[in-house]
Amino acid sequence: MTRPPLTVRPDLLEVQPYISPQQPAKHRMNTNESPYAPPPELVAEVAREVQDIAFNRYPDRDANRLYDAMAEHLGWPRSGLWIANGSNEVFMHLFLGFGGPGRSTLLFDPTYSLHSLIPRIASTEVHELPRSEDFTIDLDAAVTAIHERSPEIVIVCSPNNPTGGIEPLGVVEALLHEAPGLVVVDEAYIEFARPDESVRALLKDHPNLVLVKTFSKAWRLAGVRIGYMLAQPDLIAELARVRLPYHLSAITQVVGEAALHHADATLELVRSIADERDRIALELQAMGILTYPSRANFVLFEVDDPARTWRDLLDRGILVRSYPGHPRLERCLRVTAGLPEEADVFLNAMRELSDA
Ligand code: PMP
Repeated sequence: MTRPPLTVRPDLLEVQPYISPQQPAKHRMNTNESPYAPPPELVAEVAREVQDIAFNRYPDRDANRLYDAMAEHLGWPRSGLWIANGSNEVFMHLFLGFGGPGRSTLLFDPTYSLHSLIPRIASTEVHELPRSEDFTIDLDAAVTAIHERSPEIVIVCSPNNPTGGIEPLGVVEALLHEAPGLVVVDEAYIEFARPDESVRALLKDHPNLVLVKTFSKAWRLAGVRIGYMLAQPDLIAELARVRLPYHLSAITQVVGEAALHHADATLELVRSIADERDRIALELQAMGILTYPSRANFVLFEVDDPARTWRDLLDRGILVRSYPGHPRLERCLRVTAGLPEEADVFLNAMRELSDA
């Protein structure tokens, strides 16, 4: 390799690019997408609307129709809403706007890897506090860390990826009380839990609470890249400084609107996915396999030799997520609740492997 004409930013040398192996496999149960394509009426509306897009022109820079439809769907003022290309981009905007050099974030490990990667990309110091043995947040340790480090942004993932647990509202309230800056709650999987488990109701009384959500899971639109955030309007207003103009493509806007027009049909399979999740957990337990309680659309479980089980499953056409190199997840694999027939294929394979 020839020497590059310029070396990368020194603080980026610590940053490992995101890796989650994208192997070809018949049953892709590794990235927590919905196994169901969006409903035909949504797709039909997109097909109609796309014909009217002036592709030679830039899209509506403020995505007005999408914002209005989203604000109405959520019952939340448009001025307190921020939409981006997936919740990953929402996080990127948040850290570009409110993180940065001299600022820090606190998160609870293990959690979603982008919660540490994005702040690092945005030159923000990351403090990772280990979760308790059962993967819940240790509130006393969290409060101590907040007092010691004064992080500008605390990130809570609930339900947490990859462990699946939901954070009790009391814990989030305690963090809101102690944190000197923002508490950002990532509820990417909340639809698979109960509505009263969402921090949404806390928003109106806590100006330092930020709620991030996505259309990639329950909304069956991972391929389109739509995520959003609810927060106080004065915080949202600042984010206009960091977004690129026209970041939401005309196609993204049309699909987002169509999803909102067909919200009920789009979300109608959420309960059956949650039932599949519970069935997978129960059947794994019946094989003597330890599973962690999940309120999301996946199950984290333990095996003696995860690298071997991962490979054996892949040989049978089933791709699950593994965590090589993560000390707390060394024995763990994570499986996404797919179609019932996929869950059967997975469970039969696990039965075979645990009998072997
Ligand atoms: N948050 C969590 C907790 C996730 O697990 C994921 C996806 N794996 C995301 C956010 C990213 O979602 P998006 O597709 O909206 O960028």
